[in-house]
Amino acid sequence: MKNRIFILIGPPGAGKGTQAKNMASLKDFVLISTGDLLRENVGKKTELGNTAKSYMDKGELVPTDLVARMIKANIEQNIGKNGFLFDGFPRDLAQNTLLSDMLEEFNLDIDKVIYIDVKDEVIFERLTNRRICPKCKRVYHMRYNPPKNDELCDDCKVSLIVRDDDKIDVIKKRLEVYHKLTQPLVDYYEESGKITKINGERAPKEVEAEIIANM
Ligand code: ADP
Ligand code: ADP
Ligand code: ZN
Repeated sequence: MKNRIFILIGPPGAGKGTQAKNMASLKDFVLISTGDLLRENVGKKTELGNTAKSYMDKGELVPTDLVARMIKANIEQNIGKNGFLFDGFPRDLAQNTLLSDMLEEFNLDIDKVIYIDVKDEVIFERLTNRRICPKCKRVYHMRYNPPKNDELCDDCKVSLIVRDDDKIDVIKKRLEVYHKLTQPLVDYYEESGKITKINGERAPKEVEAEIIANM
């Protein structure tokens, strides 16, 4: 069977990670979250992680060639599975060209892009209260999606952490980078007719239902 290729795109804090983890397990897709993969490398202090960290801490994009190697290895390992769900990649037009070239090698194409739309004002409140599980990467919000016990992951029971880049100044920079580099890619996908725009300023379950209806 042919792999299906889905992309989740949207500003930082739109809810991509939250939705991606659900969708991937629901549809049995291979989830490729470049942010999670990069943070894993940072945690393990790999050469890639050490280089990536200096960009991530500033809210800038990690150079595409570093991300490319990571993605390619992941696609190769999982070819033949049900499908792929990309979260956080491609991030700009150049990364889209890179993905198209990689997919072409395997005779694949993007099936659908799901764009989660959330206004900048909403994003600050979301990101300053975000917590993640360092083990399973599950995403929480201390008000909208709190863990059952204090600050422990419901599944792993380990202490949740704040991401290094969820600080006001870095959030501002990430939003700037999003508008400058990622928004043009959203416009490009809009022209291709493959994109579905979803209002992300609703309860996670409502957002999820609309995504499922469009997959
Ligand atoms: P992204 O991967 O797009 O940066 P996340 O999935 O990490 O976004 O979500 C950012 C923050 O907002 C997290 O704290 C998450 O729990 C919370 N969140 C996600 N979706 C919603 C939603 N629909 N309503 C309110 N808060 C949400
Ligand atoms: P968010 O969804 O909150 O924007 P991510 O986890 O997707 O956060 O990304 C966190 C950081 O990791 C980005 O600010 C960037 O430095 C780096 N990053 C993630 N994905 C990519 C990518 N595809 N290309 C370059 N840098 C990336
Ligand atoms: Zn966990």
